[in-house]
Amino acid sequence: MAATMTQAIPGLLAAQRAAFIAAGPVSAELRRIRLQKLIDLLVENADELCAAMAADFGHRPAVFSMMNDVLGSLASLKHARDSFEAWLPAETRPSVAPFDQFGASAWVQYQPKGVIGIIGTWNAPLFTLFSPLASVLAAGNSAILKPSELAPQTAALVERLVAARFDASELAVVCGGPDVAAAFSAQPWDHLVFTGSTSVGKQVMRAAAEHLVPLTLELGGKSPVLIGRSADIRNAAERIAVGKAANSGQLCVAPDVIWVHESQCDELVEALQLVYAGLFPTIAGNPDLVAAVNQRHFARVEAYVADAAQRGARIVMAGDWPSEAAVAERRMPLRLVLDAPADSEIARNEIFGTALLINRYSDLAEAVAAVNAGERPLALYYFGQDQAEQDWVLGHTLSGGVSVNDVTMHPALHDAPFGGVGASGMGHYHGREGFLAFSHARSVYQAGAHDPRREWGMLPPYSEGFTQMIRAAVTN
Ligand code: NAD
Repeated sequence: MAATMTQAIPGLLAAQRAAFIAAGPVSAELRRIRLQKLIDLLVENADELCAAMAADFGHRPAVFSMMNDVLGSLASLKHARDSFEAWLPAETRPSVAPFDQFGASAWVQYQPKGVIGIIGTWNAPLFTLFSPLASVLAAGNSAILKPSELAPQTAALVERLVAARFDASELAVVCGGPDVAAAFSAQPWDHLVFTGSTSVGKQVMRAAAEHLVPLTLELGGKSPVLIGRSADIRNAAERIAVGKAANSGQLCVAPDVIWVHESQCDELVEALQLVYAGLFPTIAGNPDLVAAVNQRHFARVEAYVADAAQRGARIVMAGDWPSEAAVAERRMPLRLVLDAPADSEIARNEIFGTALLINRYSDLAEAVAAVNAGERPLALYYFGQDQAEQDWVLGHTLSGGVSVNDVTMHPALHDAPFGGVGASGMGHYHGREGFLAFSHARSVYQAGAHDPRREWGMLPPYSEGFTQMIRAAVTN
């Protein structure tokens, strides 16, 4: 089966590329039709898609899948549908002197790149496919999607729904595991979008290099929360707990490591415990609590917590001790991990689950230095009421995006670029920046009717006068 899918990829890509070239310019009407068909697909099959995501996770409330994946994707698609025509027109640019005096003109036109591959993740199995696809289709490209094999029911349903509405020459889906994914990323795409882990992202970049494929990498990392001393600790705890609870921490922008002043740490821990336990008063059988997607990911997070405890970290449970039933369901309360050594597993790896690292500082500059010593994060969060401190934190750090006095909110800005920097990725989707990422910005120069070069003595054999004129133009 995997071999069949792997063999099918080059043919699908070739058919899309041939159709793209044969069709010529992609009209605004066709782009609108494609975006609308996807919107209709999501609206008409929302319940079935949420049921597939629940089955893939074991336990994932339909209302969460509806918010995160269906509405999240719809917001990107509707924003693209309602905005892209304003992004299409060519832009006039200043032409080249002195030819501009003789009618030479210039413009930049935005053309679709062609056929774009999109590889998605299991944690947001619709959003990581359809949100970049909104920008890809708005820019006039065709696309082939590769959903995550760890959300197989969702992947199969997306494949079936897309095949029922789209010709494979404009949009297709290829399902499969790492072998298929590796073959997928080795194709000569006109652009490849990969959402996933930093380690697999490196393999994708190596594969893309073979054909010099332009890449968008949407990766993860350890998103820090910097809590200034002026922050309202209870309010910060409320927002951090709510953000961490979403998908049980299995979000690329989930808060991963908190930095708090040593005098406020106890208050923060207590408030986080209270809020999180209030959201999930029971663990086993709680229909609102998303499970770890599979046993491997469940065991990975538990191993991080156990390793930290063994190395002397203090583990505080935000909720009841999990029963056997909770463990069997892969549902856990939030664990707050304090004083974890720098070389512990939890301090070195993205947590992506129900644990949060808490570090104390005596001066916020120590926290900023620690953040800057690590890899550049996808998200950075600052809590505080001190504008000068906020400006200083934003000016002295670099991350994919930022939310101030909240967490996980900036990816919902549909008219602003979403993406990482450094180890958390490269490139963007959403908004006009997403349209630009999947367009080729092509500069066009059009000559005027008259060419003055000969009569102005600008051609060989060069005159002394012309040489002096050129020398005189070298100014600062
Ligand atoms: P993953 O890297 O394990 O898998 C992602 C995709 O890569 C899957 O479709 C998989 O089939 C494919 N893949 C596997 N091996 C491959 C290979 N050799 N070549 C090409 N593709 C291959 O990631 P995951 O576990 O599905 O997702 C979790 C990670 O994704 C976390 O690090 C998280 O932070 C990140 N993430 C980032 C964003 C974002 O927008 N920046 C969004 C969601 C998740």
